[in-house]
Amino acid sequence: MEWLVQGVRAFQKEVFAKRQEMYEKVAHSQSPHLLFITCADSRIDPELLTGSEPGQMFVARNPGAIVPIYDGEVAAGMHASIEYALAVLAVRHIIVCGHSNCGAVRGMLYPEMVAGVPAVARWLRNGEDAIELLQAEEPFPSEEARIRRLTELNVLQQMRHLATHPSVARLLEANELTIRGWVYEIHTGKVERYEANAEQFLPWPD
Ligand SMILES: [Zn+2]
Repeated sequence: MEWLVQGVRAFQKEVFAKRQEMYEKVAHSQSPHLLFITCADSRIDPELLTGSEPGQMFVARNPGAIVPIYDGEVAAGMHASIEYALAVLAVRHIIVCGHSNCGAVRGMLYPEMVAGVPAVARWLRNGEDAIELLQAEEPFPSEEARIRRLTELNVLQQMRHLATHPSVARLLEANELTIRGWVYEIHTGKVERYEANAEQFLPWPD
């Protein structure tokens, strides 16, 4: 793990030293514009992908970029992240970002893959409604197309789950919140975003 030691050293000497003024400016409070919900996958770098600076995005990550349906009895991290971002930090934009080759999406489709990891299996049940939508669209021309479609449907379902959260529902009702869905393709760097009017994910405009 020597790279970790070197990495922190390089951050302090090079990155921080060059941007010290910016870091001091954001040191005492945050007012992010965006709640960015994405997968915990190690290949996703939300700040790099969006060109964002410290203080601009409140990021919530978990396997599968999942937003559990709201349950007031459960002390869930995602519940707290969403409520805090909206009710305390006054964030008014949410992006749910899925990605290509997602292990969680694969696990939703093939529960036997996660049979030995019960906590993961339980978590992925939050994608059951996406699986139902997928089954309604069968058959697909290839397995790749099927997984790709589940990736999209999972993003759409997690966006819908957001509306079950009281802090989200209040803002939606007042027309004060936007929720967007993205799919990031790791091997091409492409991002597609869901266009509600077209009812499909479309390439990022040039
Ligand atoms: Zn993933």
